[in-house]
Amino acid sequence: MKYPLIDIDLQKLKYNFNELNKKCSKKNIKLTVVTKGFAGDQKIMKTLMMANVNSIADSRLDNIKEFRDLNYNGEAILLRIPKKSEIKEAINYIDCSLVSEKESCIYLSEEAKKINKKIGVIVMVDIGDRREGVMPENLMNFIKEIIKFPGIYLEGIGTNLGCYGGVIPDLKNTQKIIELKKEVENELGIEINRLSGGNTATTNLFGQGLLESEVNNLRVGEAILLANDITNQRQIEYLKRDVFKVRAEIIELKKKPSLPSGSQGCNFSGEKVQFKDKGIVKRAILAIGSQDIDHSSLIPELKGVEILGSSSDHLLVELSNCKKELNYGDVLNFKLGYSALLRAMTSPYVKKNYLY
Ligand SMILES: *Cc1c(COP(=O)(O)O)cnc(C)c1O
Repeated sequence: MKYPLIDIDLQKLKYNFNELNKKCSKKNIKLTVVTKGFAGDQKIMKTLMMANVNSIADSRLDNIKEFRDLNYNGEAILLRIPKKSEIKEAINYIDCSLVSEKESCIYLSEEAKKINKKIGVIVMVDIGDRREGVMPENLMNFIKEIIKFPGIYLEGIGTNLGCYGGVIPDLKNTQKIIELKKEVENELGIEINRLSGGNTATTNLFGQGLLESEVNNLRVGEAILLANDITNQRQIEYLKRDVFKVRAEIIELKKKPSLPSGSQGCNFSGEKVQFKDKGIVKRAILAIGSQDIDHSSLIPELKGVEILGSSSDHLLVELSNCKKELNYGDVLNFKLGYSALLRAMTSPYVKKNYLY
């Protein structure tokens, strides 16, 4: 085995997709699998295709192209509001895009018309998280303008919470987007096909009625990949937690003072770090660093292992409370959060080990 590596349990992944898909189907919600967490990995995508996934969304066009190369013929949605510079290429691979700028709709329409295609747009509305989306009061006018563009059609409206502002989806803000949809339908005399109500965090509203009645699409990544919902700080108990696991090798094991010695500047990422004096502590260095993982969302499996920090190529852990005797060359396992997963899947240095 070559370390660091990431174990990818394809059966568990399939299980998570199937379970969530069943739950969504019962509520008449179309499940769009958000694939950005696995950086276009073909084996993972093939697994999802074998499970009959028919709607995916990715923020990177490169990943979507990768999936089309695999003959994925289902719906592909550009999840990040599009860059002007990618639209001309993107329209060949996508069915739909999230949008929030009139200009992007103009470009989408012009380019799509050239190839006799109509691209669906899902207009994003900012109902509080303050990342992408038109403000609610501007939605009506926005739609009135873009609805005339010949190369696009209004597929739906959508919203995203729990990403920048960490705003929790609840009945109140979800009700808001439902009302907006109805207002637009009434005023313009149209029917809006899709209400794309949110991401993993919104699955928290399952069972509360509202979701079942109006929201008919969710875009979900984290729940399927990690059985986790960071916004609501919960694990999703009906899904499997360990689709992914990172393993890294110990390259130094020593007792050292917990405090650095010398006049202190900034660490490698420009931060001034405060250290607690715990005297001499037992520590290990693992051969995995911030080029490979984000240590802030890494969870050691072995009891008593505590993450101290990382630099570009080293992960430092404290072993004071670890009962197991460890040696040079031993391998430690870690569960991952979203940011650690993104980095690990993107790093060419982290070997991918598929479990079938
Ligand atoms: C990343 C993303 C998602 C998926 O979020 P998860 O928390 O992984 O479910 C959904 N919608 C948008 C717009 C995103 O950027």
